[in-house]
Amino acid sequence: MSAAEALIAAGVRIVDAGLSPGSSGNLSIRDGDRILITASGTSLGRLTAGDISVIDLDGTHVGGIRPSKEWPLHVAFYRRDEAHRAVVHLHSPYAVAWSCLEPWAEHSAIPPLTPYFVMRVGQTPLMPYRHPGDSSLGTDLLASPWKLRAALMANHGSLVAGKDLDDAVDRAVELEEACRIALLTATTKRRILDEAQVSELAAEWRSPWGELADVN
Ligand SMILES: [Zn+2]
Repeated sequence: MSAAEALIAAGVRIVDAGLSPGSSGNLSIRDGDRILITASGTSLGRLTAGDISVIDLDGTHVGGIRPSKEWPLHVAFYRRDEAHRAVVHLHSPYAVAWSCLEPWAEHSAIPPLTPYFVMRVGQTPLMPYRHPGDSSLGTDLLASPWKLRAALMANHGSLVAGKDLDDAVDRAVELEEACRIALLTATTKRRILDEAQVSELAAEWRSPWGELADVN
Protein backbone atom coordinates (compact mmCIF):
# COMPACT_ATOMS: atom_id res chain seq x y z
CA MET A 1 0.00 0.00 0.00
CA SER A 2 1.40 3.42 -0.93
CA ALA A 3 1.56 6.25 1.61
CA ALA A 4 -1.35 7.98 -0.16
CA GLU A 5 -3.45 4.78 -0.10
CA ALA A 6 -2.71 4.39 3.63
CA LEU A 7 -3.98 7.93 4.26
CA ILE A 8 -7.18 7.30 2.30
CA ALA A 9 -7.84 4.03 4.22
CA ALA A 10 -7.14 5.66 7.60
CA GLY A 11 -9.58 8.48 6.78
CA VAL A 12 -12.37 5.94 6.22
CA ARG A 13 -11.58 4.15 9.51
CA ILE A 14 -11.69 7.44 11.44
CA VAL A 15 -15.03 8.49 9.97
CA ASP A 16 -16.49 4.99 10.53
CA ALA A 17 -15.44 5.28 14.20
CA GLY A 18 -17.34 8.58 14.49
CA LEU A 19 -14.19 10.56 15.24
CA SER A 20 -14.45 13.21 12.50
CA PRO A 21 -17.50 15.43 13.16
CA GLY A 22 -18.20 17.62 10.12
CA SER A 23 -15.06 17.46 8.04
CA SER A 24 -12.74 18.01 11.00
CA GLY A 25 -9.36 16.41 11.60
CA ASN A 26 -6.25 15.86 9.56
CA LEU A 27 -3.81 13.02 9.00
CA SER A 28 -0.28 12.65 7.86
CA ILE A 29 2.30 10.00 7.14
CA ARG A 30 6.07 10.33 6.92
CA ASP A 31 7.69 9.00 3.76
CA GLY A 32 11.48 9.52 3.99
CA ASP A 33 12.06 13.26 4.38
CA ARG A 34 8.62 14.10 3.05
CA ILE A 35 5.30 14.28 4.86
CA LEU A 36 2.05 13.49 3.06
CA ILE A 37 -0.74 15.41 4.79
CA THR A 38 -4.42 16.02 4.12
CA ALA A 39 -5.56 19.42 2.87
CA SER A 40 -7.78 21.90 4.72
CA GLY A 41 -11.52 21.26 4.62
CA THR A 42 -11.32 17.78 3.14
CA SER A 43 -13.74 15.09 4.27
CA LEU A 44 -11.64 12.30 5.76
CA GLY A 45 -14.12 9.64 4.67
CA ARG A 46 -13.88 10.59 0.99
CA LEU A 47 -10.20 11.38 0.48
CA THR A 48 -8.70 11.09 -2.99
CA ALA A 49 -5.11 11.47 -4.14
CA GLY A 50 -6.00 15.07 -5.08
CA ASP A 51 -6.69 15.94 -1.41
CA ILE A 52 -3.15 15.10 -0.31
CA SER A 53 -0.39 17.65 0.09
CA VAL A 54 3.35 17.06 0.35
CA ILE A 55 5.53 19.10 2.72
CA ASP A 56 9.05 18.67 4.01
CA LEU A 57 10.19 18.42 7.64
CA ASP A 58 10.35 22.24 7.86
CA GLY A 59 6.75 22.51 6.68
CA THR A 60 7.69 23.85 3.23
CA HIS A 61 5.03 22.96 0.67
CA VAL A 62 6.71 20.84 -1.99
CA GLY A 63 3.82 19.22 -3.90
CA GLY A 64 0.09 18.68 -4.33
CA ILE A 65 -2.68 20.83 -2.90
CA ARG A 66 -2.10 23.29 0.00
CA PRO A 67 -1.72 21.45 3.33
CA SER A 68 -4.06 21.72 6.30
CA LYS A 69 -3.31 24.90 8.23
CA GLU A 70 -2.64 22.62 11.19
CA TRP A 71 0.52 21.27 9.55
CA PRO A 72 2.79 22.66 12.35
CA LEU A 73 1.27 20.09 14.75
CA HIS A 74 2.31 17.26 12.48
CA VAL A 75 5.80 18.58 11.75
CA ALA A 76 6.42 19.04 15.49
CA PHE A 77 5.58 15.40 16.20
CA TYR A 78 7.91 14.11 13.47
CA ARG A 79 10.70 16.38 14.62
CA ARG A 80 10.34 15.24 18.23
CA ASP A 81 10.90 11.56 17.53
CA GLU A 82 12.12 9.50 14.55
CA ALA A 83 9.84 6.68 15.73
CA HIS A 84 6.78 8.79 14.86
CA ARG A 85 5.86 7.76 11.31
CA ALA A 86 2.19 8.83 11.20
CA VAL A 87 0.15 11.49 12.98
CA VAL A 88 -3.61 11.82 13.52
CA HIS A 89 -5.21 15.05 14.72
CA LEU A 90 -8.92 14.95 15.60
CA HIS A 91 -11.72 17.08 16.98
CA SER A 92 -13.43 13.95 18.31
CA PRO A 93 -16.16 14.76 20.86
CA TYR A 94 -14.89 13.19 24.09
CA ALA A 95 -11.29 14.30 23.56
CA VAL A 96 -12.51 17.84 22.87
CA ALA A 97 -14.76 17.75 25.96
CA TRP A 98 -11.93 16.58 28.19
CA SER A 99 -9.59 19.21 26.65
CA CYS A 100 -11.95 21.88 28.06
CA LEU A 101 -11.34 20.69 31.66
CA GLU A 102 -8.39 21.41 33.89
CA PRO A 103 -5.69 18.74 33.39
CA TRP A 104 -5.50 15.86 35.87
CA ALA A 105 -1.72 16.37 36.19
CA GLU A 106 1.08 18.17 34.40
CA HIS A 107 2.37 15.05 32.65
CA SER A 108 -1.08 13.74 31.73
CA ALA A 109 -4.33 15.62 31.32
CA ILE A 110 -6.15 12.27 31.48
CA PRO A 111 -5.96 10.13 34.63
CA PRO A 112 -4.91 6.45 34.41
CA LEU A 113 -8.33 4.87 34.91
CA THR A 114 -7.75 1.77 32.78
CA PRO A 115 -4.62 -0.25 32.01
CA TYR A 116 -5.33 0.11 28.28
CA PHE A 117 -4.89 3.86 28.30
CA VAL A 118 -1.50 3.48 29.99
CA MET A 119 -0.42 0.60 27.72
CA ARG A 120 -1.60 1.90 24.36
CA VAL A 121 -1.43 5.69 24.72
CA GLY A 122 0.63 6.73 27.73
CA GLN A 123 0.89 10.12 29.36
CA THR A 124 -1.01 12.78 27.41
CA PRO A 125 -0.13 16.32 28.47
CA LEU A 126 -2.41 19.30 27.83
CA MET A 127 -1.06 22.00 25.52
CA PRO A 128 -2.21 25.59 26.06
CA TYR A 129 -5.11 27.06 24.08
CA ARG A 130 -4.07 28.74 20.82
CA HIS A 131 -6.05 30.32 18.02
CA PRO A 132 -6.77 27.68 15.30
CA GLY A 133 -3.89 27.50 12.85
CA ASP A 134 -1.54 29.45 15.16
CA SER A 135 1.99 28.16 14.55
CA SER A 136 2.54 28.26 18.35
CA LEU A 137 0.64 24.96 18.45
CA GLY A 138 3.72 23.40 16.86
CA THR A 139 6.25 25.21 19.04
CA ASP A 140 4.33 24.26 22.21
CA LEU A 141 4.58 20.62 21.23
CA LEU A 142 8.25 20.85 20.36
CA ALA A 143 8.93 22.48 23.73
CA SER A 144 6.98 19.98 25.86
CA PRO A 145 9.41 18.47 28.38
CA TRP A 146 7.46 15.20 28.50
CA LYS A 147 8.10 12.08 26.50
CA LEU A 148 4.88 11.66 24.56
CA ARG A 149 3.02 9.92 21.78
CA ALA A 150 -0.20 11.84 22.39
CA ALA A 151 -1.32 15.27 23.54
CA LEU A 152 -4.55 17.17 24.10
CA MET A 153 -4.79 20.77 22.93
CA ALA A 154 -6.91 22.90 25.23
CA ASN A 155 -10.47 23.50 23.97
CA HIS A 156 -9.49 21.99 20.62
CA GLY A 157 -8.80 18.25 20.30
CA SER A 158 -6.30 15.44 20.28
CA LEU A 159 -3.05 14.60 18.56
CA VAL A 160 -1.47 11.15 18.43
CA ALA A 161 1.50 9.58 16.69
CA GLY A 162 2.14 5.98 15.70
CA LYS A 163 4.68 3.76 14.01
CA ASP A 164 2.28 3.69 11.04
CA LEU A 165 -1.22 4.98 10.34
CA ASP A 166 -3.02 1.90 11.67
CA ASP A 167 -1.10 2.27 14.93
CA ALA A 168 -1.90 6.00 15.13
CA VAL A 169 -5.62 5.42 14.44
CA ASP A 170 -5.75 2.63 17.07
CA ARG A 171 -4.17 5.03 19.55
CA ALA A 172 -6.61 7.82 18.65
CA VAL A 173 -9.53 5.43 19.29
CA GLU A 174 -8.06 4.41 22.67
CA LEU A 175 -7.50 8.07 23.60
CA GLU A 176 -11.10 8.92 22.73
CA GLU A 177 -12.25 5.98 24.90
CA ALA A 178 -10.04 7.14 27.79
CA CYS A 179 -11.60 10.62 27.61
CA ARG A 180 -15.10 9.12 27.47
CA ILE A 181 -14.45 6.99 30.56
CA ALA A 182 -12.88 9.96 32.36
CA LEU A 183 -16.01 12.02 31.66
CA LEU A 184 -18.40 9.21 32.64
CA THR A 185 -16.67 8.87 35.99
CA ALA A 186 -15.85 12.54 36.56
CA THR A 187 -18.59 13.25 39.08
CA THR A 188 -18.41 9.99 41.01
CA LYS A 189 -16.01 8.69 43.64
CA ARG A 190 -13.70 6.75 41.36
CA ARG A 191 -10.63 4.55 41.67
CA ILE A 192 -7.57 5.70 39.71
CA LEU A 193 -4.72 3.23 39.16
CA ASP A 194 -2.02 3.86 41.73
CA GLU A 195 1.59 4.75 40.98
CA ALA A 196 2.90 1.18 41.34
CA GLN A 197 0.19 -0.21 39.03
CA VAL A 198 0.88 2.45 36.41
CA SER A 199 4.67 2.03 36.60
CA GLU A 200 4.39 -1.73 36.11
CA LEU A 201 2.20 -1.30 33.01
CA ALA A 202 4.34 1.47 31.55
CA ALA A 203 7.53 -0.58 31.96
CA GLU A 204 5.98 -3.75 30.53
CA TRP A 205 4.53 -1.96 27.49
CA ARG A 206 7.34 0.61 27.08
CA SER A 207 4.78 3.33 27.30
CA PRO A 208 5.73 6.87 28.35
CA TRP A 209 4.51 7.73 31.85
CA GLY A 210 6.14 10.28 34.13
CA GLU A 211 9.15 10.29 31.82
CA LEU A 212 10.89 13.36 30.47
CA ALA A 213 11.82 13.53 26.79
CA ASP A 214 15.47 12.83 25.85
CA VAL A 215 15.67 15.75 23.47
CA ASN A 216 14.75 18.58 25.83
ZN1 LIG B 1 -7.68 21.06 14.90
